[in-house]
Amino acid sequence: MAKKFSEAAPFVPIEYRYEVQKVLYKGKSKFQKIMVFENPYFGRMLILDDVVQLTERDEFFYHEMLTHVLMHAHPDPRKVVVIGGGDGGSVREVLKHKCVEKVYFVEIDKKVIDISKKFFPSVICDLKDPRLEIRNMDGAEFVRNRPSDIDIVIVDSTDPVGFATTLFTKKFFASVKKSLRPNGMFVTHSESLSLHVDIVAEVQKTLKKVFPVVDLFTAPIATYPGNWWTFSVASMKLDPRKMRRKFGIRTKYYSPEIHQHAFVPKGLYKKLMSKKLKW
Ligand code: SAM
Repeated sequence: MAKKFSEAAPFVPIEYRYEVQKVLYKGKSKFQKIMVFENPYFGRMLILDDVVQLTERDEFFYHEMLTHVLMHAHPDPRKVVVIGGGDGGSVREVLKHKCVEKVYFVEIDKKVIDISKKFFPSVICDLKDPRLEIRNMDGAEFVRNRPSDIDIVIVDSTDPVGFATTLFTKKFFASVKKSLRPNGMFVTHSESLSLHVDIVAEVQKTLKKVFPVVDLFTAPIATYPGNWWTFSVASMKLDPRKMRRKFGIRTKYYSPEIHQHAFVPKGLYKKLMSKKLKW
């Protein structure tokens, strides 16, 4: 019988099971358990602490949506911070934009970057890009007391448990706000709208305590529990629904049309925030 991996994702009432064709790596870093295996449909999969982080087949949905919505809503993104994202997929997408002069890649666990370099060559960014600066440290620490010189901060962390919880606090959002230039924008993944309505609403509420503009968009991700995945955005003043730059990069999913339709309809958003979404 084929070997199976059962995911142990937090806050999830469904157990996802994947066929394991071959285990390519199984070990531990100072921070977490790391595993890479091959699945006949999804290709190579990266697992941290028994939670699926990405698959070769569908990673582009998440990485393109996490990055390009804001990269197109901002009029001139030059300095970008990516927190987490050790597989390099989000940084790869940010670096597609020629206007970008500097990317701080702030991943707490260097081993995730090393493993991704070895096993996910199609996912990881060009680590030699001169615009890139890698910092292996807590993202909350990185943004604390920075000068206000950043255009976009992107959080590509693990679920809001353990050492990733610092990235979902009011204190962290306040540090992010201080680190941004006047047109600055922020995005973080915020769990599933089908399974985690309360978490999504809580992230939105916390962001609203800090930022004047807060919004929500979604994307379909087959390998994240609940599948209807949310991305919470905040900005100093700019409406993230509006594209302010021409679309001129190669993508598989993101496009101006997707940008326009990705945001949660206003009526549904109102229901979410007034706790009337019960499912
Ligand atoms: N969005 C993907 C998911 O939820 O499945 C995340 C992929 S990426 C591999 C997540 C990375 O965030 C991990 O490598 C983890 O080490 C990093 N991370 C978690 N908390 C962090 C923190 N506080 N500062 C910097 N990196 C962090």
